[in-house]
Amino acid sequence: MNIQKNVALAQYSTFRIGGPAQYFVEAKTKNELIEAVTWARQHELPIHILGNGSNTLIADQGVKGLVIRNLTSGVEILDQTKVSVAPKIRPRFQLVRPDPNIDDLAYDESKYPPVLVKLDSGVYLPKAIFGLTSQGITGLEWFSGIPATVGGATYINLHGANKYWSDYLVEAEIIDQKNRVKTVALEYFGYDYDQSTLKTSGDVVLSATLQLRRGPAEEALKIAKFWQAKKSHQPQRSLGCIFQNLSQTEQKQLNLPTPSIGYLIDKQLNLKGTQIGQAWIPQKHAGFVENLGGATATQVLQLIKLVQTKAKEQLGLDLKLEIVPWLN
Ligand SMILES: Cc1cc2nc3c(=O)[nH]c(=O)nc-3n(C[C@H](O)[C@H](O)[C@H](O)COP(=O)(O)OP(=O)(O)OC[C@H]3O[C@@H](n4cnc5c(N)ncnc54)[C@H](O)[C@@H]3O)c2cc1C
Repeated sequence: MNIQKNVALAQYSTFRIGGPAQYFVEAKTKNELIEAVTWARQHELPIHILGNGSNTLIADQGVKGLVIRNLTSGVEILDQTKVSVAPKIRPRFQLVRPDPNIDDLAYDESKYPPVLVKLDSGVYLPKAIFGLTSQGITGLEWFSGIPATVGGATYINLHGANKYWSDYLVEAEIIDQKNRVKTVALEYFGYDYDQSTLKTSGDVVLSATLQLRRGPAEEALKIAKFWQAKKSHQPQRSLGCIFQNLSQTEQKQLNLPTPSIGYLIDKQLNLKGTQIGQAWIPQKHAGFVENLGGATATQVLQLIKLVQTKAKEQLGLDLKLEIVPWLN
């Protein structure tokens, strides 16, 4: 295990923002991941797991404790099947102008035979989706174009189109706070929109087992390419949406055509194009904050504060963060 000190983290975040890690290590296998977690616990250091850094705002001052960059990459197609019942979560995707392309692409997954696939938590989803589809395994195509690892997806309950990660997760291997490696079922994570117990438990996900299908590879590939192209137009030097979409109650109260946070920031708060330092709310997608080059976490936090204050003053809304701030 090669534990380094004072390693710059900005390079490992899609935002390209953030100071150094006090301690830093890369884990390429599940055993290395367990070893790193155990080392940090023995030294009573905080643990920060970094997947692809596409949802993490790293403080300019850096992070105390051990940052573990998760590069585990195992993908295993299992023989057995196991059924779990996905939680019912409100639909999150509702366009102001419905896109017929999206409806046209949908197909009935349930008529295809299930197959279990076990993915290490460091697996990079965009690559895995095309890899699995080429083997005739479908289901994850709805998440195409999202720069997530399996661990990051499990943490936030990733959402793409009308699908949630929890629609597919059956069980996961974790290392818990007491350093016990165990397998836990879907229900353990208490999933909801942008919610999982991982946000408070301190568990580290080692792998996730998903129920996918031996489905229509060509259709799935079409969907994967559609979403990949659509998402490639979003600002990439970002963390995706900064805030969560509105709840159905909030949407109703404000009589909005969509719960989309981008719509709210653009059409209700008129904040598109607002810039602080090198961080701005891009014209392309008002739900995002983009780093124009050299932005700092402090500038991003100021922009976040500004949006939250306006939303509160003008609409009485408390906007919740979708991103994860690592602020020590
Ligand atoms: C251009 C762009 C588009 C995006 N579009 C979407 C979208 O459509 N839908 C969506 O849901 N998100 C979207 N996102 C946000 C982001 O990609 C997701 O939240 C993703 O799940 C983050 O994965 P990651 O591996 O980068 O996580 P990271 O940013 O590395 O980590 C996020 C959090 O998860 C924790 N974590 C990571 N791995 C583990 C693990 N193994 N065990 C325990 N905790 C762990 C981290 O400690 C951190 O707290 C987008 C981001 C960008 C930049």
